[in-house]
Amino acid sequence: MNASSADALPSVQLPGAAAPRFDNRLLAELPGDAETGPRRREVRTALWSRVAPEPVPAPRLLAWSREVAETLGLDETAMRSDALCEVLAGNALLPGMDPFASNYGGHQFGHWAGQLGDGRAISLGEQLTADGQRREWQLKGAGPTPYARFADGRAVLRSSIREFLCSEAMHHLGVPTTRALSLVGTGEAVVRDVMYDGHPAPEPGAVVCRIAPSFLRFGHFELPAVRGETEVLRQLVDFTIARDFPEFHAAFGPHTPDAETRYADWFAEVCTRTARMVAEWMRVGFVHGVMNTDNMSILGLTIDYGPYGWVDDYDPDWTPNTTDAQGRRYRFGWQPAVARWNLMRLAQALSPLFGDAAPLQAGIDRFGVVYAEADRDITARKLGFAECRDADVALIRDLHALMHASEADMTLTFRALADVTPQAAQAGPPAELSSDAFARCPALRAAFYDTARRDAQAEGWQAWLQRYAMRLAEDALPPEARAARMAAANPLYVLRNYLAQQAIDLAGQGDLSELHALQELLRQPYTAQPGCERFAALRPDWARERVGCSMLSCSS
Ligand code: AMP
Ligand code: MG
Repeated sequence: MNASSADALPSVQLPGAAAPRFDNRLLAELPGDAETGPRRREVRTALWSRVAPEPVPAPRLLAWSREVAETLGLDETAMRSDALCEVLAGNALLPGMDPFASNYGGHQFGHWAGQLGDGRAISLGEQLTADGQRREWQLKGAGPTPYARFADGRAVLRSSIREFLCSEAMHHLGVPTTRALSLVGTGEAVVRDVMYDGHPAPEPGAVVCRIAPSFLRFGHFELPAVRGETEVLRQLVDFTIARDFPEFHAAFGPHTPDAETRYADWFAEVCTRTARMVAEWMRVGFVHGVMNTDNMSILGLTIDYGPYGWVDDYDPDWTPNTTDAQGRRYRFGWQPAVARWNLMRLAQALSPLFGDAAPLQAGIDRFGVVYAEADRDITARKLGFAECRDADVALIRDLHALMHASEADMTLTFRALADVTPQAAQAGPPAELSSDAFARCPALRAAFYDTARRDAQAEGWQAWLQRYAMRLAEDALPPEARAARMAAANPLYVLRNYLAQQAIDLAGQGDLSELHALQELLRQPYTAQPGCERFAALRPDWARERVGCSMLSCSS
């Protein structure tokens, strides 16, 4: 079956009052490909190609986000309807949808990779919601497109669960991200070689419906720039400012500055948003895993959840991505530097629109300033201070070093620190207080993966906790305000790699209970939930080196 044209797909209506309105501005305003359908090809002077999803045999709604559904005006009846399930699987379209794949390039692992494009993502349309927002629906895994190159255009249940759970978890953590409306099982097997070691095997297939105001990436700007298609590039930049940065666009008002000033201000805004996004990743312990420029959203949203991971034992050198194990380019601690490098590639792509490089350099400098500000703000929030003083930068750096040296769990450590009281500072110098290094913070004692390594650092911890207590004693925040500030900055529950893997293993056997339990839990990551203690525990030993738990491949 090959529905290369949207006409081949049935049009369906949703039950009740739900009738999303689509206005497909990207197709209307940007140059597109004359050819329709999934034939693999190079596409020049065009930013998109019309291509319809390829139908699947037995779609089944496995999970959905009620918050996303609500923003789209979809009630429970609509969500549970067969009609919508068919749409979310790529078997049918709603009135006004006009499916397409977009064209982009990118730098992968530091090297220009040429045309990439949406190889298995098909946008269905841009919904205009009742509150005037624009929300693009995009199916991931709905079949091949002109950009699929040698791959099949499909996605496995394993990676789809990871994207579905994590993008929603990130939203509830307060990290800018694309969202996920639904997870649909296709009833069709997809063959993958999980560790790329010559053991291909069939796995259940799935489709995630992602939602974002825009799915434009840095790579969308790089491709026309590298090809010398300067007019296409200019059209894309003008379009992006007008559609995706409306507040920004409007702010120019009647005093529209010259194009170069407008572009420079917009680029600085992209740098600002990217800096804030990465600072938030560092706050919660998220490692993206594949920060290629084709995986960087122009809106500063976390996008493309592949071999990402969550830091358990604090280690700035850790990368979850096995493909990255050698160079560790995308390790946790390097993410701010990589984001900056990616912005330099974007600046380079935009340079044909500028007379000289100074305004672009100003944007890059802005990244550094905004990141440093965000980092200080996060330091104050995570440690529970009214504001970050210069000495606090050293305080948290020393904490990170201790956590690293003694294999402390990042999430549990920061939650435990809320127990340290300013009064502990009055108990005298470390040696006189107690022979117990953790007397000032008993909860911390249980936050380590290796008790021998913990004990080897006991003196360091005792001294650091004394410093921290003294700093707290000088701080202006009253205890309740400090507790609230810390609890809102330090999540109790994150999508630990092994937790996602357990949900995946059970879902593969047809049991969705753990998937749903995790989804529910992660709606309130900062609030202790009764009966959920097991989700806020140290990673078990068996998960330390297991595939899917600490090692993720790009195979998806
Ligand atoms: P990623 O590393 O997943 O961000 O993907 C890089 C490029 O490969 C993008 O152009 C994707 O659309 C494409 N791609 C990844 N997996 C598939 C697949 N199964 N079928 C088609 N294209 C794919
Ligand atoms: Mg990608």
